[in-house]
Amino acid sequence: MTEHPGNPAGPAAGPVDPRDLDLFEFARSGRQAAGVMRVSQLPRMLNEVPIDAPDRDTTFTWQAEGATQPELQYNGTEGRQPYLRVAIHGAAWLVCQRCLTPYDQAFNVDATYRIVNTEAEAEEFPLDDDEVEVIVGSRQFDLVDLIEEELLLSLPLVPKHDVCPEVHESLVSGVSGAEGAGEQAAQDEAGADDESARPNPFAALEALKRSGPGGKH
Ligand SMILES: [Zn+2]
Repeated sequence: MTEHPGNPAGPAAGPVDPRDLDLFEFARSGRQAAGVMRVSQLPRMLNEVPIDAPDRDTTFTWQAEGATQPELQYNGTEGRQPYLRVAIHGAAWLVCQRCLTPYDQAFNVDATYRIVNTEAEAEEFPLDDDEVEVIVGSRQFDLVDLIEEELLLSLPLVPKHDVCPEVHESLVSGVSGAEGAGEQAAQDEAGADDESARPNPFAALEALKRSGPGGKH
């Protein structure tokens, strides 16, 4: 009657408010939390989503897990130090920088943080492990803010489709205008032999006009 192993309603594992979390307690007692967040709850992420996106309010699922790990301290003894691991999965619409249309970008974040007490401690913290970030903990920690920060950090440097939809080859080469012009000039000098090797897009267009659909003559 007194034991409730894994009972989420138990006092040590009550519901967690991700906006107001005692991060030190969360880590020390190895607690876990999970939830769903909408882009509309993350104003800075929402800024990245184009107005004409098919869905501006996509969702992210998140999991957070507290833990402690033994660490050698300055006084030479080992103490258990607080850690937080956060995983975020989901997608948001961004603007493709190649074809300038919206596309669905997947986000998969898995970050581990060593929790410290103060900013000063964070700055002095020896970062000998690239896999671990340092955050300043709080008794009223805003996990939503951290999740948004991680999403912003994992935005692609140049957002783009893997393969842009329905972009004709002639349009792609048209983007690099100067290069295309140089190519054309070189081709002109090379003479008529080369001309026949490459289909002339204008000739194709003329042919279309001549035999166009419902062609009225
Ligand atoms: Zn594209």
